[in-house]
Amino acid sequence: MLPPIANNFVAGEGPATALDHVRGLNADGVAGILNLLGEHYDDRADADADTQAYVDLVRDLAASDLDCCVSVKPSQIGLDLGDDVFRENLSRIVDASDTFVWVDMEDHETVDVTLDAYEEHARATDGNVGLCVQANMRRTDEDLERLADLPGKVRLVKGAYDPPKEIAYKDKARVDEAYREYLEYMFREFDGGIGVGSHDPAMIDYAADLHEEYGTDYEVQMLMGVREEAQVDLAASGVPVYQYAPYGDKWLSYFYRRVRERKENALFALRAVLS
Ligand code: FAD
Repeated sequence: MLPPIANNFVAGEGPATALDHVRGLNADGVAGILNLLGEHYDDRADADADTQAYVDLVRDLAASDLDCCVSVKPSQIGLDLGDDVFRENLSRIVDASDTFVWVDMEDHETVDVTLDAYEEHARATDGNVGLCVQANMRRTDEDLERLADLPGKVRLVKGAYDPPKEIAYKDKARVDEAYREYLEYMFREFDGGIGVGSHDPAMIDYAADLHEEYGTDYEVQMLMGVREEAQVDLAASGVPVYQYAPYGDKWLSYFYRRVRERKENALFALRAVLS
């Protein structure tokens, strides 16, 4: 069973608790992005099992009245076993229902294959898929030019991986600057929809300014357990807000990652348990 301390960041161990969590979010005006925890499988059976779990989930979501989509990690559905395994399993998930499917971006070596697979589905579904891109990657300006010509949504994040300095910005201030540059480009050139994947109030304010200037549709996406009051307040102010909520039995490493990123997360979780 999920201990209370992890409860703040993970929506339970199975789909039933995850769907309940989304129901609560929707009641607060926030939409859901469900992510089944798991990554870097080197056994095809594991990749296929999680693919099937996503197929079941997207069908359940399509049959429900919930405002919720899913987000999938390439290495969870077979990328480490081969590009063909990943592409085959992604097709199974995308083709299973009308539920919107996001593709997360992982380390720098996976960017090309992830973009290629995304492009295929963006065209085939007329944009019922989304892709995450990372502001710390120098190549993202060129990737955004390619994405501007495609249907589908693009989520801009700062980047959670640690690519080599030859291909990535390492300095936090430079990553923030790149985030602003890329965001401005997206508001100017995109019409498929923009996901502002950040908890940073400065970036969220900047997105609101760009929306005012260009009129482009956008949504703010934040993680479960992070600035949840702000998520509800922002949604109440009229900005579409999505909460990325992970679930599943592999919660321990995810929880540690959140705490490693920011020690306040552990204190926050502890306070919630004690109060
Ligand atoms: P930071 O730059 O870490 O912090 C900036 C400011 O934001 C802080 O000063 C503070 O004011 C506020 N803030 C940040 N965290 C907290 C907190 N815990 N509590 C309170 N305030 C806080 N990365 C990938 O590489 N690939 C992905 O596919 C991916 N998908 C993501 C999906 C979503 C919905 C989100 C939100 C993030 C995703 N990320 C992904 C992670 C992302 O790359 C960043 O590592 C992460 O979001 C931290 O950057 P930030 O912009 O939120 O804020």
